[in-house]
Amino acid sequence: MTLAPYAVVDAISQGRRFDEPAPSYRSEFQRDRDRIIHAAAFRRLEYKTQVFVNHEGDLFRTRLTHSIEVAQIARSIARALQLNEDLTEAIALAHDLGHTPFGHAGQDALNACMQDFGGFEHNLQSLRVVDELEEKYADFPGLNLCFETREGILKHCSLKNAAGLGDIGTRFIDKQQPNLEAQLTDLADSIAYNSHDVDDGLRSGLISIDQLKDVPLFAEQYDEVRQRYPNLSARGSIHEVVRRLINCQVIDLVRTSTDSLAKHQPTDLGAVRQHSQPLIAFSDIMRERNLELKRFLHTRLYRHYRVHRMSAKAEQIICNLFESFFEDPRLMPEEAQQKVSNLKAEQGEPGQARAVADYIAGMTDRYAIKEYQRVFNPEELT
Ligand code: MG
Repeated sequence: MTLAPYAVVDAISQGRRFDEPAPSYRSEFQRDRDRIIHAAAFRRLEYKTQVFVNHEGDLFRTRLTHSIEVAQIARSIARALQLNEDLTEAIALAHDLGHTPFGHAGQDALNACMQDFGGFEHNLQSLRVVDELEEKYADFPGLNLCFETREGILKHCSLKNAAGLGDIGTRFIDKQQPNLEAQLTDLADSIAYNSHDVDDGLRSGLISIDQLKDVPLFAEQYDEVRQRYPNLSARGSIHEVVRRLINCQVIDLVRTSTDSLAKHQPTDLGAVRQHSQPLIAFSDIMRERNLELKRFLHTRLYRHYRVHRMSAKAEQIICNLFESFFEDPRLMPEEAQQKVSNLKAEQGEPGQARAVADYIAGMTDRYAIKEYQRVFNPEELT
């Protein structure tokens, strides 16, 4: 398929941190995608919370299924806009690799623990996973991904952090846009979670159809489905509405972005970067509809007392583990201890804290719970 002149292609890539021969039979971005799929951090996503902790039910999204849904949505959009699907897929599959166990509650807790040592941010951690923490290849640390993939993984970044990141941080300082594949994957992420959190929220019983009828984006689709399929079961109606929610957002995004690309006619990737605004965007009305749904999910689902109760436990687990490991790294497995002493030798106390944070961030929900038991429960002997 012919790609648009502003798509990322191998020939214009800014390359990898460590030079490597070009891959055989694959493009550079296929190779990035493949490396991500084979990474340990990718497999761990299966047991990390999106909203619901893994043991709460088998049908809820996990970070892994979320990432796959983002990749599906992002690829459809990339193809419709004649952009690089392989790069898009790589960014989508890697975008959540840096998440701690227990979702946002886990990240907030770890960030609080790391306050005196530069903080903790899951987005930055995703980059750290692919740049430093994965240990797979003999010739280099991390996955040695292409600049454009790494740029897409680092969606946002404070100016302070950007200054320490070298080439990948420059765009935040220069206020430039990332490549279009990165822009669209960011929005595909929000399409995915807004839609599947409605599905999971209803399935869990924490939110109801009645409440959702006040949210225009949902109500419009729901009314249409009820009218067209009056005899459809409650569950069947929800499925039909959720698929329509995804579809209408994708269509809006493709249409609006096609118009905006036609209007501004960026000649190449350089022009995309220089543009004052992202060229991939929802229409104003869809952006508003999205915000309404997001606000609803925040108040009704993410702050529901049952979600909050689990978040409070998560915070306790993360904070207690961090304090204990930081005070006495010998409580950690030997491999993790080694990493703590290496980073401590390089960077002193902040290095020690960072290595403890890396260890905790890498845990799955169930591993963190188990580790908490092993450290704090006297009856847990293993
Ligand atoms: Mg995500």
